[in-house]
Amino acid sequence: MSALARLRLSSGAAAMRLLGLPGAARRRFGWLPTVVTWHGVHDGSVPPEHYRFSTKHVSVDMFRRQLEWLARHYQVATLSDVETAMTGRGGTKPLAAVTFDDGYENNLTVAWPVLKALGLPATFFITVNVVEQQRPYDHDRIELALRHTPRSSVRLQAGNQRLDLRLDGIHARSRAVYAVKAWLSRLPGEQAAEVRRQLDDQCWDASFLESNRIAYRPLTWGQVRTLADEGGEIGSHTLSHPHLSQVDDDQVARELCESRTVLASKSGQRVSRLSYPHGSFDDRTIRAAKAAGYTSAYATTMWFRGTAPDPFAFPRTSVSGGAPFGLFVVTVSRALRLIGRGGGEGARAAD
Ligand SMILES: [Zn+2]
Repeated sequence: MSALARLRLSSGAAAMRLLGLPGAARRRFGWLPTVVTWHGVHDGSVPPEHYRFSTKHVSVDMFRRQLEWLARHYQVATLSDVETAMTGRGGTKPLAAVTFDDGYENNLTVAWPVLKALGLPATFFITVNVVEQQRPYDHDRIELALRHTPRSSVRLQAGNQRLDLRLDGIHARSRAVYAVKAWLSRLPGEQAAEVRRQLDDQCWDASFLESNRIAYRPLTWGQVRTLADEGGEIGSHTLSHPHLSQVDDDQVARELCESRTVLASKSGQRVSRLSYPHGSFDDRTIRAAKAAGYTSAYATTMWFRGTAPDPFAFPRTSVSGGAPFGLFVVTVSRALRLIGRGGGEGARAAD
């Protein structure tokens, strides 16, 4: 995030807080539990330029401040309580829940001690293959490779298309990451896989992962078990983190069924909740999730589809690393919805 973008967000959020919009929004929309999604929490050791490459991790100081604010204004509950409350609840504060997507090691090593100290429950949605193979996500691998390779330029080829990247300086490297991700999203699967191989061949070094462990390293199965044994809830984020609305029926069934079985066996818990990777789902995905035995599933939209609450399209608010605290207050309170923005079906948070 650029300094200018940060200033704009910060001023916008501060103005909304001055006008009292977050409190008004909590009173107006408090009947709907607020489920908040983090991806990771770092220990404060990542340099500011990290946010040019990834906004998936907040600092531990920011995380503690966010949780303390959440606990002051909401009753922080389990997802089970949140789902039960959808059919009527008591209490004086609106309900909120804490969730994590993707299964980074820092969920246990940095975030979990803070949650435990504050006595707050949390659910961790884990991607099976990332833990099993101890291999970073493809998008994380692209960030690490282009940020740290000693090369000053890279040439990637897909069919007769070519992408030439200059890597002189942190700004150019950050731009290169976004350019590659955008290009890959437009390429057919086979060509995208070929481009990833080229990038790996030219730029990848396993030491990049170790020296950036706090923001990229996945949990191990032993660590997943520790989270479960110490009271964290384990949910499924599928086997391979695909866009579920874009893969065939067989893969959807496999991603949902096998991940549930593996996670139950590794965690020792019954796994009954799902979080859709990239927030990607449709009616077919929901049918498959029900058939696989899930009781609810979590999206990245900020509001329900249509008017009736649907436990298989539960909205969540995503937290961005590097963003000002005021923005957390405004988004979690759904203050944007109060002024007619950011609450529609199409409003998606980053995953
Ligand atoms: Zn994810």
